[in-house]
Amino acid sequence: MVRLNEIRAGEVAVEPPSPTDAGLVFIGRIRTPWTDRLACPRQGRADGPACRIEVFAPWREALDGVALYARLEVLYWLDRSRRDLVRQSPASDGTARGTFSLRSPVRPNPIGTSIVTLIRVEDGIVHVRGLDCLDGTPLLDIKPDRTLFTPLAPPQAGDAETGGGEIADA
Ligand code: SAM
Repeated sequence: MVRLNEIRAGEVAVEPPSPTDAGLVFIGRIRTPWTDRLACPRQGRADGPACRIEVFAPWREALDGVALYARLEVLYWLDRSRRDLVRQSPASDGTARGTFSLRSPVRPNPIGTSIVTLIRVEDGIVHVRGLDCLDGTPLLDIKPDRTLFTPLAPPQAGDAETGGGEIADA
C-alpha cells in the first residue's frame, strides 16, 4: 500500500539525527512518467515505460563506456520519503516489520536501486526501462549490472576466490 507519510497501526518512528552528516552529490535527475506515488510501480519492470536519466554537465564524461552494458544498476535518492520509521506496516494491516527487512522507500537513508535495461545513451541522457521512481528523483550513481561486469584491473591480494572467514564476536 502506497505511503503518503502517515503512521500506521503497529509502526514505530524514532527521532533521527540531523540528516546533514554525509555529503552526497546529486549527479543528475531522473525523468519518469510518474508524478504521483499512487501511480508509481513498487518495483521497476524490464518492459516498463522508457525513462530518461539526465546526467548533469560535470559528470557527463563519466558516461563513456556505459553503452557497453545491456543492464545497469541505478542508485537514486527517494527524496520525498519520510526517514524515521524503524518498524513499518506495508499492508497497513497492523502487522509491522523492521525497515531493514523491507524495500520500502521509507528508510534512514532513502537510497533506491533498480536494475534497468539500456535503450541508448545520447547527449548526457541515459534512456532506460525498469525504473520505479517519481519524476524528478535525484540521481546518485550509475554502475554496470554486477552480473555483466568483469573487473578490469589485474587481481590483487585479498581477491582470493575462497572468500574470507567470519569476523569473530568481540
Ligand atoms: N526499486 C527501489 C528499491 O528497491 O530500492 C525502490 C523501491 S520503492 C518500494 C518504490 C516506491 O517508492 C514507489 O512505488 C513510490 O511509492 C516510492 N517513490 C518513488 N520515488 C520516490 C521519491 N522520489 N520519493 C519518495 N518516494 C518515492
